[in-house]
Amino acid sequence: MVLTKLFLFDVKSFLMKTLEDVVKFHGHICPGLVLGYRVSLLALKELGKRADDEELVAIVENDSCAVDAIQVMIGCTFGKGNLIFRDYGKQVYSFIKRPSRKGMRISVKWESPKETREEKSMWERYMKGDRSKKVLKAVHDRRSRKVGAILKARDAELFDVRKGKIEPPEEARIYPSIRCAVCGEKVMETRARVKQGKIMCIPCFDKV
Ligand SMILES: [Zn+2]
Ligand SMILES: [Zn+2]
Repeated sequence: MVLTKLFLFDVKSFLMKTLEDVVKFHGHICPGLVLGYRVSLLALKELGKRADDEELVAIVENDSCAVDAIQVMIGCTFGKGNLIFRDYGKQVYSFIKRPSRKGMRISVKWESPKETREEKSMWERYMKGDRSKKVLKAVHDRRSRKVGAILKARDAELFDVRKGKIEPPEEARIYPSIRCAVCGEKVMETRARVKQGKIMCIPCFDKV
């Protein structure tokens, strides 16, 4: 009985990460992280469980705090090759399930409530390096209000969502490594360059 309980508890906590896990990983709580958390919840609701292997692929169009939440919640990580970064500077997150190619594209449309004059001046002072109690409290309060607003908002207030099949990018592949003729370090074949008839890694290619 006790064992069963323990087992169930473990399975549950393994399957569903929490906001606490996300904050622990990221190091602080901030509006961007909480947005990523909400994106993740919506994606999981639609596409199913966390990606233990490569069955879920995430394509993120920015490299902000939000992406840390996606890594923890969805299990798509840089190292596994199922987190793809496209440097478009957009708050857009697409998820694709393999092999069905069922996908969804989540675009953040939420706008934070307008700052008051007071908040604006406090922020300016903070950016100039003012760390007085008054300024710190104002900045902290503003951030907390934003985080609270994001957690309370409905999905429809936060996101524009498109569903449908998405063509997944190629699966992570492992290529052989070769030695750079300049520094002697190993470099993946597909990243090697040739200059003056020598095979080089990119840093050496740029230097020589
Ligand atoms: Zn952050
Ligand atoms: Zn080199």
